[in-house]
Amino acid sequence: MSRLDLFIARMVSQRACIDHAVALTRGMAGPVFELGLGNGRTYHHMVEVIKSRDIYVFERAVASHPDSTPPTDHVLLGDVFETLPQALARFGPNASLVHADLGGHNATKNDQFARDVSPLVEPLLAPGGLMVASDRMYFENLTELPLPKDAVPGRCFIYQKNT
Ligand code: SAM
Repeated sequence: MSRLDLFIARMVSQRACIDHAVALTRGMAGPVFELGLGNGRTYHHMVEVIKSRDIYVFERAVASHPDSTPPTDHVLLGDVFETLPQALARFGPNASLVHADLGGHNATKNDQFARDVSPLVEPLLAPGGLMVASDRMYFENLTELPLPKDAVPGRCFIYQKNT
């Protein structure tokens, strides 16, 4: 696969998995968390498809497209290793959906990051809540779900908190 192929596969998979996870959690009222704003493309998509839940964004430095910049009172600014524990104290174990796209270009570093951040994400989810991630995660009480048909295996992962 060329780098262009890989990039397209990641984008297509993110959209397919976010749409699938939004549909599966439609009956849940808890907040939605976007980990890693970046340009704001996936945040913008989530705003388009999620109408009745608050979306909070975790980002260390906001530099998104102006059309994709969240309201400041919905941004948890700083390193996720500090803001995720703060979010647990603030929101409790009630998140209906967490989407994470925090990785860079180094697969080994991304994997270590996923191992380190997984224990901070797991307690945030409500029973039945979903996590969509661009990297494989390492959870104790979440089950990996099958991908929707448009997603490319290995480019996106969906996990559900056990009830
Ligand atoms: N999904 C986004 C989009 O569609 O535009 C792209 C996200 S970009 C690949 C990853 C983002 O995660 C970057 O903006 C980076 O600053 C943020 N990030 C990476 N590590 C972080 C950390 N430890 N704490 C907070 N934000 C982090």
